[in-house]
Amino acid sequence: MTTLARTARTLSDLLWHTRWGLVVLASAWLLLATGVASTTSFERGSLPLALGLSIYAATLARAVLRELSPETAARTPRAELELGLLLITGVYLLVALTGGLASPAHPLVYALVSFLLIIHRTRWVGFAWLGSIAALEVIVGARAGTQVIYHLGYIGFFAAGNLLVLGGLVRRLRQEHSHRVEGELTRMRQEARDFRLIDARAAQSDANARSREVDELQLAQGAVHGIHEQVAFNLGLLRDALGLHTAALLWRSDENWVLKQAVGQDDELCAELPGPGILAGICRDPRPLVLKNMSDRRLPPYYAEDRDGPAVTDLCAVPLLRRGELLGIVCADRCGDRPFTGEEQARIAAAAQHVQRIVDQERAFSAIERGKYEQEQFYRASELLSGALGLDEVYSKSFRAIRAIADYDLAVLTSHDSHGRTHRVLAIDAPGARDPEHGLDWGTLADSLHDLVFEDGAGLVAMAVKNRHHMPVDDERVEPETVVFTLHTRLRHAQSLLVLPLVRGEQVLGAITLVSAREHRFPRATREMLRVISHQVSVSLQNARMYRAMEERATTDGLTGLTNHRAFRERLGQVHDLAERTGQKYTLILTDIDHFKKVNDTHGHPVGDAVLKRVAAVFAGRARKVDVVARYGGEEFVFVLPDTDGEGAELFANKLREEVAAQIMSSEQGPFQVTISMGVAEYPLDCREPGELIERADQALYRCKRGGRNCVTRWSRTPAAPKAAAG
Ligand code: GH3
Ligand code: MG
Ligand code: MG
Repeated sequence: MTTLARTARTLSDLLWHTRWGLVVLASAWLLLATGVASTTSFERGSLPLALGLSIYAATLARAVLRELSPETAARTPRAELELGLLLITGVYLLVALTGGLASPAHPLVYALVSFLLIIHRTRWVGFAWLGSIAALEVIVGARAGTQVIYHLGYIGFFAAGNLLVLGGLVRRLRQEHSHRVEGELTRMRQEARDFRLIDARAAQSDANARSREVDELQLAQGAVHGIHEQVAFNLGLLRDALGLHTAALLWRSDENWVLKQAVGQDDELCAELPGPGILAGICRDPRPLVLKNMSDRRLPPYYAEDRDGPAVTDLCAVPLLRRGELLGIVCADRCGDRPFTGEEQARIAAAAQHVQRIVDQERAFSAIERGKYEQEQFYRASELLSGALGLDEVYSKSFRAIRAIADYDLAVLTSHDSHGRTHRVLAIDAPGARDPEHGLDWGTLADSLHDLVFEDGAGLVAMAVKNRHHMPVDDERVEPETVVFTLHTRLRHAQSLLVLPLVRGEQVLGAITLVSAREHRFPRATREMLRVISHQVSVSLQNARMYRAMEERATTDGLTGLTNHRAFRERLGQVHDLAERTGQKYTLILTDIDHFKKVNDTHGHPVGDAVLKRVAAVFAGRARKVDVVARYGGEEFVFVLPDTDGEGAELFANKLREEVAAQIMSSEQGPFQVTISMGVAEYPLDCREPGELIERADQALYRCKRGGRNCVTRWSRTPAAPKAAAG
């Protein structure tokens, strides 16, 4: 049943997703070219034609439905081409069936051209469509003579006209959209900067402001809203209490003055002020200013010169100061020659102080929010990294933690060997390789850095490690000729760069280098956060290294560096389980050095040790990655060869035996050689249990020893083996 279902599914996949559309299209074109799809056969009710048309309609419907399905996220150019061709061919089928080029349905071709030009996304697909339309026009109008040429001319003209108009329209819409977004961002940035809600440097970033900056700006935007609301409320209270014409807050924005908030009866207030105007005095000497009988003088700068409203006669302006710096001015004015009394001036001054407190509070609030955001990032990073035990896991999680804080195109983690004075590239993360513009360059650069080892030198990585300080020291700018790793690995598209040393106590473990093709990617605030994260990375890296060393110590034989007995048992179990599941064979070879006691007795124990090491090196050098080579104990070694039968293992064992016998050992007594004996047992031929397999290999080894040593014996060839197995 499942096989049937699977076959049906494969068949349907094959038809729908691979060649089906093309088969149907080719058949339809064939019908058109051979004249089967024509008015006469249509009127005759030809069965093959009816069948062909039904299949065509179903295929077209399916393609349209697939296109409209919400699951089809991004249309591939192939799917786009196929859909268009189906539509085009469909229209020409209709034209052919209803009288050829003279058909009343022919104008549909023009409508289709327009439609396709609107929906097309890939340029070459658009040309392929137009080409197919021309071809079909010729096929369908083959008998219509010069008419075809006129039609082709019209279609070409129509398509070109459409392309020009549509292209211009789309470009304009895109531009308008990006201007709107950019304008909104600039406004948000400026407001946030005016109230000192965000770091001025961070807000100066380029037009391609990315998500994190937008995040920060949104945070600040919340604060800006808060300020506006509260200030408006306060100014409103002031206006009602003192019968003001206008209560306004003017603010210094860079070198200009802007009207941040105003509550009053005049509609014609200027947001951008030409200058402080009659308030220039306050700018020079920031003290409250009270003016009366102003009808004959200039008005406060927020009124348009040619306003029609009632004459403003009285003004009270109070400066807002922070540490002596003039931030803004609260203005209260009214009409009808009613000068501000001392008490009223005091109320305005109190309101101004209140406004100042609102701005300060929001600033503090923003700082707290930013702090919270940073804390959250640190928490996430440490949570992420604390769960990483293996080195590879530490590398990938470090990149993830950093990516959450800074956008980069390339990140490179290097280790530093202080004895060899070398750096080694441990891991690379190149999200920039997916960038359509410079993707190829980042990919090539990442490839050239792969496993790179370079010496201490004048590169920024070496300097960051040496000075235990991030590089470049002051900002993230980078020149094309800056050497980061080596002279030969230049970062051509880098606009921002940051190298963070990985410091752990007295040691510098290495460095993380971040590169971006955009400017201002690692501003001061980001650098500070990354420095904290780099400490967490260092801790995790050191832990993972210690973990690996411990694991190695626990599983490695100290003398030979091979897997130890305990780990061998574990690995044997794993190989066995896998073989049982997959039905594969595997072989076990037990090896013993011949007359080793004599080696010790003649040349001394240290030489014996050296022999053990040499033999182990021969074994390790010959083993595949999947093989297990272990010191079984004393001068005995064991191999487990997955996916290998007894015959293959015997060949392998003989090679090893010969190679060991060819080794010339040296001692004070002069050069000497050793030989080895090997017993081979095969799963599942010789037995089905790992423990027994060792026994069988041991029995085979024993046979070797009895037979004169320096040989290989398979258990299946010993007299102990049952006849069936021996065959
Ligand atoms: P056979 O050919 O029958 O195997 O003879 P043999 O001399 O090798 O006999 P046996 O296997 O009994 O001897 C093993 C010797 O290996 C005994 C022990 O002193 C020596 N040995 C075991 N472990 C070590 C070691 O770590 N270093 C050294 N130098 N010798 C070891
Ligand atoms: Mg022995
Ligand atoms: Mg021995």
